[in-house]
Amino acid sequence: MDLGIRGKRAIVCAASKGLGRGCAEALAAEGVDLVINARGAEALDATAEAIRAAHGVSVTAVAGDIATEAGRAAVLEAAGDVDILVTNAGGPPPGIWSDWSRDDFIRALDANMLTPIALMQAVLPGMIDRHWGRVVNITSGAVRSPIPALGLSNTARTGLTGFVAGTSRQVAPDGVVINNLLPGIHDTDRATALDTGVSKAEGIDIDAARRKRQATIPARRYGTPEEFGAACAFLCSQYAGFIVGQNLLLDGGAFNSTI
Ligand code: NAP
Repeated sequence: MDLGIRGKRAIVCAASKGLGRGCAEALAAEGVDLVINARGAEALDATAEAIRAAHGVSVTAVAGDIATEAGRAAVLEAAGDVDILVTNAGGPPPGIWSDWSRDDFIRALDANMLTPIALMQAVLPGMIDRHWGRVVNITSGAVRSPIPALGLSNTARTGLTGFVAGTSRQVAPDGVVINNLLPGIHDTDRATALDTGVSKAEGIDIDAARRKRQATIPARRYGTPEEFGAACAFLCSQYAGFIVGQNLLLDGGAFNSTI
């Protein structure tokens, strides 16, 4: 299926690895030119080169922390006018409710709520002028079903979800659609880090921690960045124009509900 976005330009944040990279790869496979970002330049440059070689699109790598004003300015400057924005950043650390200080909340809000909002505020005016735009925010399944140890994530991402719920309806008349993708457990460095934490806390090896988590997922496995990227590319496609302000859960059935 041709998604009808060949020649479009996209920013994909936090994209040297994991889910962000999955989104970048899937957009590149559709002929979308990219600006990709991550803090570590070495892995980012290697990803940019791999995507260019595989898909023949233009890929500009901008190293920097997307949760900072300077990081965002560098990405936006390199990108110019864009048709597609995929927001993403690393997730906050686990803990319990009594651990977190005001500074911890501010850091989480900066990375996982205020950064995607600032990026949307920067690119939406151009999309509205050109009467076409797609925004996909990578949030978390925790928005629908809280993960108690990830209280900072639950908090920040729910705030972002509220912003998107209203804003997506304000920009839809101008051909701009904003949606959120909610990952459940996917096989990335983030999942390995969380499994490592469980293995230490419970005194079991990491394979046992992983098997334990897989057993809680009806699909009995973790999702892949490729599957996640394909869903992202569809939400960025010509066919997604009537999908407005939705929260699409990709979790192998882990969240148990009828609707
Ligand atoms: P990952 O495999 O650890 O990859 C994170 C990517 O983001 C890397 O390219 C990393 O590169 C970049 N990054 C992190 N912080 C950044 C920042 N401040 N500025 C720019 N780039 C940054 O993580 P992932 O599993 O793909 O997760 C992506 C997002 O989805 C996270 O917010 C995570 O919490 C959320 N999520 C993931 C899962 C899952 O199962 N994987 C489930 C629910 C939610 P550098 O380190 O070099 O910057």
